Amino acid sequence: MSSELVIQGSLFTPVSPTEFTFLRQALVCIDSTGTIARIVRATDTDYSDVQQTAQRLDHLWQLPHNQYILPGFIDLHVHAPQWPQAGLALDRPLDQWLNTYTFPLEAKFADTTYATKVYHHLVHELLRNGTTTAMYFGTLHLDANLALARQCAQQGQRGFIGQLAMDNPDQTPATYRQASSQEALQTTERFIVQLQRLAKTTGAALTPVITPRFVPSCTSETLRGLGVLAHRNDLPIQSHCSESNWEEQYAELTYHQRDAAVLDQFQLLTSRSVMAHGTQLNADDLTLFADRQTTVAHCPISNCYFGNAVFPVQQALQHQVNVGLGSDLSGGFTPSL
Ligand SMILES: [Zn+2]
Repeated sequence: MSSELVIQGSLFTPVSPTEFTFLRQALVCIDSTGTIARIVRATDTDYSDVQQTAQRLDHLWQLPHNQYILPGFIDLHVHAPQWPQAGLALDRPLDQWLNTYTFPLEAKFADTTYATKVYHHLVHELLRNGTTTAMYFGTLHLDANLALARQCAQQGQRGFIGQLAMDNPDQTPATYRQASSQEALQTTERFIVQLQRLAKTTGAALTPVITPRFVPSCTSETLRGLGVLAHRNDLPIQSHCSESNWEEQYAELTYHQRDAAVLDQFQLLTSRSVMAHGTQLNADDLTLFADRQTTVAHCPISNCYFGNAVFPVQQALQHQVNVGLGSDLSGGFTPSL
């Protein structure tokens, strides 16, 4: 067997939330598509053959003894347009932080040149930190979201990218919201078509994600329409759920239901859904998440800053809820998972 590239080194890889495999001086064989075709253990009978063949073809890359191979990190929750304020502007509670700093910053992405500059830097920096797959919230601007997708394609990052939907005039500023539910849904539909076309022409691993910002920022008509779009196109969904008391209280005051139940009512909790934070999820909510096979993006840093709470990871795992990690840039300040 000959491979395009064979990396020789010790590697760690997780096999469950509590266990990992460690292989000393394995050979990771990568084919011409960039896919790991095989991992050869030091005890395998053809180990020397594979190593020598790769060496002869000048395809062998031996890591120094103080370096290790890890799988690429998957960041489940990144607000791409907030990258310019990562590490800044953390002096207000969530609702004030959004209106004072964050919505005005995101509104700047109407300028696609600015968006391209920021997203070039963001994708580069995430890759430098080992994040090979990211699930991104974009902005209201379709062209800027496509610019983010192009950066993922050009730099070789797998991107799950969301065209943001927010149209509730009671909870969003006039300068940064969609004018109607119709506009929110039509823009999302156009984004799905254009991103899928981009994925096809570039061959890049790009997937559109249905993205209601969170329950308060959307009208019920938009939440309902997005649920329908997700099902019709079999797409992943991302949003925030039970991030803070404020968000939870909004759901109870407006819908007389838990935040998780509101999302579920609109078909937004599926096996392809990733909900950020979840610090206020109670036992019933966790059971609902487990039933729907919905994943929580656990964002410990921003939970401390904005939720003033911790996400009970062990409790969620005991309920058989899938949990992954998110940096939550820029609620979290670091691009490193
Ligand atoms: Zn977030």
